[in-house]
Amino acid sequence: MPEQTPAPSSAPALLDAQGRRIVYLRLSLTDRCNFRCSYCSPAGIETHEDPLERSEVARLARIFGGLGIRRVRLTGGEPTLRRDLLDLVRDVSAAPGIEEIALTTNGHLLASLARPLREAGVTRLNVSLDTLDPEKLRRIAGRAATLDRIVSGIEAAYAAGFASVKLNVVVVRGENDGELGDLARFAWRFGATARFIELMPFGPGAPVPTAEVKRLLEGQGLRLEPDATRGWGPAYHMRGTSTDRGRPVSGLVGFIGAMTESFCDSCNRVRVGADGSLRACLGGRERLGLKELLRGGASDEEIAQAIRAALLGKRERHDLAHSRGKLLPMIGTGG
Ligand code: SAM
Ligand code: SF4
Repeated sequence: MPEQTPAPSSAPALLDAQGRRIVYLRLSLTDRCNFRCSYCSPAGIETHEDPLERSEVARLARIFGGLGIRRVRLTGGEPTLRRDLLDLVRDVSAAPGIEEIALTTNGHLLASLARPLREAGVTRLNVSLDTLDPEKLRRIAGRAATLDRIVSGIEAAYAAGFASVKLNVVVVRGENDGELGDLARFAWRFGATARFIELMPFGPGAPVPTAEVKRLLEGQGLRLEPDATRGWGPAYHMRGTSTDRGRPVSGLVGFIGAMTESFCDSCNRVRVGADGSLRACLGGRERLGLKELLRGGASDEEIAQAIRAALLGKRERHDLAHSRGKLLPMIGTGG
């Protein structure tokens, strides 16, 4: 099912410095991961052994819900490594104001977790998969990454009946740019949508601009037409048609042009990283130490005020192109 822009909420609007309405929280539950994707987890990156505890996550969800946040995406690191994940999902979904819980995973543990996650309250699932070639997958994501396991996870997600399943594909030049059409068709087999994400410069690898991704898809057997389906944030879609194993097929294809398109104009999100700090912008260095506030005796209202103030410092757009090496990589911020 396509994502819809949220209806106006009765909660007071949480606005950033540019007047953008912030309704979407990306909450990183850990910066530990069982994979080692080079673009996300550069060698030498340190992990925190002290992520937010269950009660702290639940309290934050209530505070953000009261501020007008409607959707929470649980991310990481790899969120399925949290042993208390299902309890966390239940707590967040019980927070007043929170209408949807989404989760992003590398799929390694998804085969057994898909149904429990759905039952606990996750409605939308993103599974990251950059290639259908088992060897290449290991090269990109490390030795633990096993294609069969991820595909079983995607099958389990399909069977569990999520409102939406997306396949996140980071496009890396010379690595997976020859199989983008195959990945789109693969996603459609499971009622999923492949989303092609421009590589952001946290590690090695060369990006492929979204305009070129579209040309590649057309060269790899997809006819693309405009489609009005919008995501909640900067992602947008086109309708693709093709043939798969001799049969006509069609479905949506998503694009996140983080580096070359107007990604920031429709930004509606705020992030809490694995270190418990709020980042108004993925590409900004400013952070608000929410964990310190939570543990230092601040009241809910004081924390809410601090969040509002941090968002009023949010810049108009990211400066990722000039920030290589100066920012916390994705494994810490949650993407
Ligand atoms: N471990 C989970 C996973 O891989 O889906 C969730 C965390 S991961 C940081 C969230 C998303 O960020 C993934 O889809 C991943 O592919 C994407 N990502 C990581 N590093 C990136 C980069 N440098 N550029 C673009 N996307 C990136
Ligand atoms: Fe782990 Fe996800 Fe980052 Fe890959 S993209 S290293 S799976 S957190």
